[in-house]
Amino acid sequence: MHELGIASSVLHEAQQEAQKHPRARLRMVKLRVGEMSGVNPEALHFCFEVLVRDSKLEPLQLEIESCARQQRCPACAQTFTVTNYNLACPQCGEAKTEFVSGDELELASLEMEDYEPGAA
Ligand SMILES: [Zn+2]
Repeated sequence: MHELGIASSVLHEAQQEAQKHPRARLRMVKLRVGEMSGVNPEALHFCFEVLVRDSKLEPLQLEIESCARQQRCPACAQTFTVTNYNLACPQCGEAKTEFVSGDELELASLEMEDYEPGAA
C-alpha cells in the first residue's frame, strides 16, 4: 500500500526530529496533504496507527490538514480554490488557468510534550 510507505517515512522524519529533544516526546504529527497528492487520508491514518501501535511512539497522534487545489488565472491574476473540478477562473471565466498548489505532502508541524525517561 502506497500510504504505508508514506506513514513510515513521516514517522522516520518525526523520530529524527524528536531525537534532538531528549527531554520531550512526540505527541502529535501534523501533515499537510493536498487533494491532488494522490494520498488517501483515511488510509494514511490507518497505516500510521498500525505503525505506532505497540511501539515506543505510542500514543502519538496524526492530524491531517487537507489542502484544496489552487489555480491562478493568467488573464486577471486571480488565485482561486477549485471546486467541482472546474478549472475556469471564477472572476473572468478564463478557461486556461495555471496550477498553483494542491499536491503537497509535507510535515506541517510536530507537537511535543515534556517527558522524563524513567520518571514515574
Ligand atoms: Zn481570471
